Amino acid sequence: MNSTELITGIGELTTQVESTSPRERLHDAALVVGDGRILWIGPAARAPAADHRTDVDGRAVLPGWVDTHTHLVFGGDRSAEFEARMAGQAYAAGGINTTVAATRAATEDQLVATAQRLRHEAEGQGTTFLETRTGYGLDVASEARSARAAASVADVVTFLGAHIVPAGMGRRTYLDLVTGPMLQAVLPYVQFIDAFCERGAFDVEETREVLLAGRAAGLGLRVHGNQLGFSGGVRLAAELGALSVDHCNYLEPADIDALAAGATVVTLLPACDLSTRQPFPPARRLLDAGVTIALATNCNPGTSYTTSMPYCVATAVLQMGLTVGEAVWAATRGAARSLGRDRGTDAIGSLFVGGRADLQVLNAPSISHLAYRVGVPLTGAVWRQGVRVAPMP
Ligand SMILES: [Zn+2]
Repeated sequence: MNSTELITGIGELTTQVESTSPRERLHDAALVVGDGRILWIGPAARAPAADHRTDVDGRAVLPGWVDTHTHLVFGGDRSAEFEARMAGQAYAAGGINTTVAATRAATEDQLVATAQRLRHEAEGQGTTFLETRTGYGLDVASEARSARAAASVADVVTFLGAHIVPAGMGRRTYLDLVTGPMLQAVLPYVQFIDAFCERGAFDVEETREVLLAGRAAGLGLRVHGNQLGFSGGVRLAAELGALSVDHCNYLEPADIDALAAGATVVTLLPACDLSTRQPFPPARRLLDAGVTIALATNCNPGTSYTTSMPYCVATAVLQMGLTVGEAVWAATRGAARSLGRDRGTDAIGSLFVGGRADLQVLNAPSISHLAYRVGVPLTGAVWRQGVRVAPMP
């Protein structure tokens, strides 16, 4: 074994080891990390010796954030569109075309560099596991290139050829491309498939066709659903047993019933809701119905240009009615569940002996400070698979 590290003096340790309850917090705790794994967890007074010792002096420790929904492979930016939207212009799905043009014009090195920069930015705020997706190439060569770039930066990759029908292309022709040659071209790099089920993007039957093609190719299913209206995406996701349906701003009672009857996780994207001035999803009703909730940034240049999971956690608490414990759980273990990764030795989003040493220290005594001290950068140190990737100031 390589060297071991004792992290001790933990004032509050959130492990997320229970599969449903949102919190277990230990006090005066310690843990030992070695070979990328957690070797021991328990009271600081009984901690075993290790090669190195880090005393976090009463700070809070919790699992690293799991960000399950980002679009980091893109060219250009859309700050002018953002400013126009803040001046009253409505958001429509078609703004994606602007980023498609800029992405096609960029070199692969430029795409990787941008995505890498954003990944480092996320890591510095406690994100230790990151999904990203394609969707700004929208032709076979550009999507394949985007998928390759994504795989070089993120832990898991989602194919989003069905983001919109690109300008100048027929719907049927494009769907045949997405479910045929484009899917085959990205397959070596991706684990999930996604479709934007929304007016201006794809309808329910088109979304179904795309998702089933992905499933036949061995991919897990994710859906952008009910962001701008009652698109039917949520019920389709529940019907197909998708791992996650994301956005969910507009939900009818029947949508919530369908979600409650299945295992599909609802991934809420509060930074996107603020940046598009959409009404927040009914998070409290979802939780009360027994639906599992995850939180993610939806980092993308059009509608949510932030990598900050702490910001999403704070917004979920302050604006969406989640408790602190629920929001932190949704951003760690709930998010892991939406990737099919919350159980077993390769689980993420929770801290247990034998599991991955993906954890963060807050410059605060409790996770409540994430919302209590909103806007203040509280990330102290971050370990990813046992390696410190962000320092303690
Ligand atoms: Zn998205």
